[in-house]
Amino acid sequence: MKVPANNLLRHFEEHQQEYENKALEILRSGNYILGNEVDRFEKNFANYIGTNYCVGLGNCLDALWLSFRVLGIGAGDEVIVQANTYIASVMGITINGATPVFVEPDAFHSIDADKIEEKITAKTKAILVVHLYGTCCEMDKIVAIAQKHNLRLVEDCAQSHGATYQGQMTGSFGDIGCFSFYPSKNLGAFGDGGAITTNSAELDQAFRMYRFYGSEKRYYNKVVGTNSRLDELQAGLLNVKLNYLDQLNADRNRVCTAYLNKMNNPVIQLPKLRDQATTVWHQFVVTTPYRDELKDYLEAAGIGSIIHYPIPPHLSEAYADLNIGRGSLPITEKLADEVLSLPLFYGMTEAEIDTVVAAINAFVPRALEQ
Ligand SMILES: *Cc1c(COP(=O)(O)O)cnc(C)c1O
Repeated sequence: MKVPANNLLRHFEEHQQEYENKALEILRSGNYILGNEVDRFEKNFANYIGTNYCVGLGNCLDALWLSFRVLGIGAGDEVIVQANTYIASVMGITINGATPVFVEPDAFHSIDADKIEEKITAKTKAILVVHLYGTCCEMDKIVAIAQKHNLRLVEDCAQSHGATYQGQMTGSFGDIGCFSFYPSKNLGAFGDGGAITTNSAELDQAFRMYRFYGSEKRYYNKVVGTNSRLDELQAGLLNVKLNYLDQLNADRNRVCTAYLNKMNNPVIQLPKLRDQATTVWHQFVVTTPYRDELKDYLEAAGIGSIIHYPIPPHLSEAYADLNIGRGSLPITEKLADEVLSLPLFYGMTEAEIDTVVAAINAFVPRALEQ
């Protein structure tokens, strides 16, 4: 039996009529940008996350770079960010001319909260946390550090829609939460989409201005903004999907709980769960020193897997000018060589789960063959 790494059709097909009706309704409305659906989605999503405001944007990279732009963080400023993240988090900082200062992750792939303060300098203006793979960072400690040092706190929630820490949703701890609705995210649209969440009326207004060429009133431009709007079609489809988000996340939990209970290969380390945090299992990430061999072995067995991410941002060609060489962030670099995301999607069958489990449990790296 073949098992793909992901399959977005299982959920869609279950609710196909509802999505198609909504799409047709919007196509026939004649209103495609910044209309009722976006208004409704912004209210619905702010309500879901527990913030006063939400602003729909074109994607999460825009949410990230606009966050630092509206906070006035740019050239000469430093932003603390975890080293093991998707490169978009770092681009959100550097697009504004600010400098990323990398912190190694803890055992949960989150920024190591105990290593943040040693990186704070007179130039530090903000901390960007990334709730990687769906698991919330240690927010009580991080919020306290941000307050103590008077730093802005931005959350990259592209992988954590619905994840909580001590019962509070990601995207509601910091000044700004940045979300992606890229199709494969926990709350995925049918194209690109993004949003920010905030409790600040001032920041809410700033994002509304920046996403619309820097104008509050059309054709009266106050700042050099951009064009980054969640469109009506995506917002409408997201209004439908948001009703299923808890169910979608619960189903990912079903799959991952089975993985955790049934996988028992001593050369493969399973993901750990953080006390006080819930994970929404954006990915089920195992680690093994035999990662490349495992990936090839799974592929030969018809099982898809993905490396999130093979090259840490500081070693990416795009950031050669940062001059942070190999060996500077050893935990992050080792993870890049050892992480592998196993198949995980809504509606995975027991047979599919068992196929992945059996393959994982039967894996013997060549170096350990008798
Ligand atoms: C997907 C992702 C982004 C970028 O989201 P887009 O909507 O594709 O711009 C940023 N950060 C993380 C952690 C992501 O996983």
